[in-house]
Amino acid sequence: MIMGNRTDSDIKKLLFPLIKMKNANISMTIKVGEDEDEDWEPMGPTPMPKIPTLRHWDFKLLERYPPFYMPICDMCCLCTFGKCDLSKGKKGACGLNIKAQQARIVLIACCIGASCHAGHSRHLVHHLIEVLGRDYPINLGNEIEVEAPIARTVTGIRPRTLADLERILDYCEEQITHLLSAAHTGQEGSYLDFESKALHAGMIDDLAREAGDIAQIVAYNMPKGDEDAPLIDLGFGCIDKSKPVILCIGHNVVPGSYILEYLEENGIEDDVEICGICCTAIDITRVSEKPKVVGPLSRQLMFVRSGVADVVIVDEQCIRTDILEEVLKTGAVLIATNEKMCLGLEDVSHMSEDEIIGYLLRKRACLILDEEKVGKVAVEIAKIIAKERKDRKTLPDLSEIVELAKQCSECGWCNRNCPNTFKVKEAMILAKKGNFDGFIDLYRRCYGCGRCEEICQRNLPIVSMTTKVGEAYYKDLKFKMRAGRGPIKDVEIRSVGAPIVFGDIPGVVALVGCSNHPNGEEEVAMIAKEFLERKYIVVATGCAAMAIGMWKDKDGKTLYEKYPGEFKAGGLVNCGSCLSNCHITGAAIKIANIFAKVPLRGNYAEVADYILNKVGAVGVAWGAMSQKAAAIATGVNRWGIPVILGPHGAKYRRLYIGNGEKFTVKDKRTESLMEIEPVPEHLIITAENMKECICMIPKLCMRPNDTPKGRANKIYHYVDVYEKYFGRMPPDLEKFVRTEKDIPFMIKDKVMSYLEEKGWKPFDKYPQDPTVLY
Ligand code: SF4
Ligand code: SF4
Ligand code: SF4
Repeated sequence: MIMGNRTDSDIKKLLFPLIKMKNANISMTIKVGEDEDEDWEPMGPTPMPKIPTLRHWDFKLLERYPPFYMPICDMCCLCTFGKCDLSKGKKGACGLNIKAQQARIVLIACCIGASCHAGHSRHLVHHLIEVLGRDYPINLGNEIEVEAPIARTVTGIRPRTLADLERILDYCEEQITHLLSAAHTGQEGSYLDFESKALHAGMIDDLAREAGDIAQIVAYNMPKGDEDAPLIDLGFGCIDKSKPVILCIGHNVVPGSYILEYLEENGIEDDVEICGICCTAIDITRVSEKPKVVGPLSRQLMFVRSGVADVVIVDEQCIRTDILEEVLKTGAVLIATNEKMCLGLEDVSHMSEDEIIGYLLRKRACLILDEEKVGKVAVEIAKIIAKERKDRKTLPDLSEIVELAKQCSECGWCNRNCPNTFKVKEAMILAKKGNFDGFIDLYRRCYGCGRCEEICQRNLPIVSMTTKVGEAYYKDLKFKMRAGRGPIKDVEIRSVGAPIVFGDIPGVVALVGCSNHPNGEEEVAMIAKEFLERKYIVVATGCAAMAIGMWKDKDGKTLYEKYPGEFKAGGLVNCGSCLSNCHITGAAIKIANIFAKVPLRGNYAEVADYILNKVGAVGVAWGAMSQKAAAIATGVNRWGIPVILGPHGAKYRRLYIGNGEKFTVKDKRTESLMEIEPVPEHLIITAENMKECICMIPKLCMRPNDTPKGRANKIYHYVDVYEKYFGRMPPDLEKFVRTEKDIPFMIKDKVMSYLEEKGWKPFDKYPQDPTVLY
């Protein structure tokens, strides 16, 4: 089998780098730490920015995209002065108004997200330094010279060893502490400064993710920008239930890697099934192509309830907090492996592996903070538990579902409590008559949060019923997704830099985020498909990358099988887990640096200004859910990249929305200020449904720097998607046509007649080299 350009035997050598590297004689020629004065690039104006350092840049953004607040609650209950009613212009006992309070909550959310990624990265780097040493080199291969674009731009450090990543994380943690302290009662009072701090937290989140992903790429020999990363198995149907099954849930590759290592050492890789949910799933398939990906976060409760897993390993982030209870109900065993999620379990790390296995057979769950021990324990206990599994029944069968449905009182509370008001009651009514169509539809769209069954007055196990029907009617839940390839190569940036900047490639669409999609996974795949067919570059990470893989065309092919994994027009790039989101921002930064020669080192504002004005990229977090997603989106915004959220994104309480009026920029060529069309129109905005999201994407990919040919290309797609989904011309098209040269030739007549109706007037001039830094 071939993994990229590697052969089977190469892969074997690569699978277990920890063993390999532990025994390797690592060259000591690499210096510990980066010499600040080393002349790889002159230092820019803002290395290691503190909270106020980039405030001027933030205020530029906030002036153009004023925060729009949607308070979920008018009360503040954060201190014992309160709770304070902040409605109708009232201030709290500390003097805070509702606007500042909303911005403060956003800052807190971004700090939670940033600390989550920084904590994860710190854990990885710390662990890898213990195993591999501080001098372990950062080397992403000959094709990636700009190895850490975010770190270079933000900190001025070009990381060359794991120790350098540690320094970067020191900086992240210092900033997060200051940022979070600003949210304390009686600190910041201005909503604008809270927003600037939230943007800073987002940037730190980006940086911390880059440090973590680079660390795991080099240490675990994950693909280094490999466009031919292997197609791996995805979906419930891929799991071989005849073997002992170990399920890893969360976001941390370390425990899973030790399980793979133990299997390899003992030559039993084919005897035990390893599978994963959420980002751990993606990351263990970057280490070895043997594990299977069950699916995104939304499939967590369903898969656990299915009772297929014998051992569930949880690490950190995005794990159901009632996972212990759910796992124990199925008869499986649970091992917690991370200090951030101990679940009240006894820490048995001091015991020997055999003692832990004995303990688990008695107690069924434990905490093991020595991840190396997890390898043997998980495998050996899975072999024992699997023998019991054939006698276990965890889901009702179809005839039992009919009987359960008959108990439904049709009160409708399930529908009202479902975040998406899915039609659970109606599914019950049909199931009473033995018709499962309602549950079949529910299975496709439900994200397994369990809120419906939590409120059900008849205690009906709605998620289990949905899971069983799904199992019975979706027999072929087997898909292929491309393993996370990591960064974009410099050579790819060289070939797409000009077409992106001039608009010949109409845009880069980054699909990221969690899995509370309004209508199931398929919508993410449909968004990707639309833009792949239009020759945009589509990039994905995390749950969104999995969701894209969970749709097949009529020939049974997923988009990963149909489209190449290169960062090029019509390419579908899976960078990897949420940590790997950094490579998407990294690609935009690298366009500024490699194509346009903008210096990176400590030069944040100039790089972000370049991206805002010239790099037509948009992020789509269709199922954004967590505080991490809030931090990621806000971080991306600070780089000048707009983000579209799904309808639930409004619950983040704050958007950055342009008012549709013209923007002002300076033309660097003439030094004159001029008004331009409002592009990109918004910085963060929600779309109510998939059609609206698809129609916003081409618009938000427009940039002031587009050439007439490039703008015409973007306008063509904007008009075309609008007509396809809404059957009419975009109602604001006239704002984005600067001169007749911007009108696509193929649709010139109809666009001209539309523009005439709107009283459109061409621009006298527009900037050749726009900037907002003046
Ligand atoms: S932090 Fe301020 S607004 Fe919030 S409860 Fe305390 S006094 Fe009231
Ligand atoms: S489990 Fe599914 S149907 Fe039930 S509330 Fe959650 S999303 Fe809705
Ligand atoms: S909440 Fe329970 S009893 Fe009420 S309609 Fe839903 S399933 Fe039936």
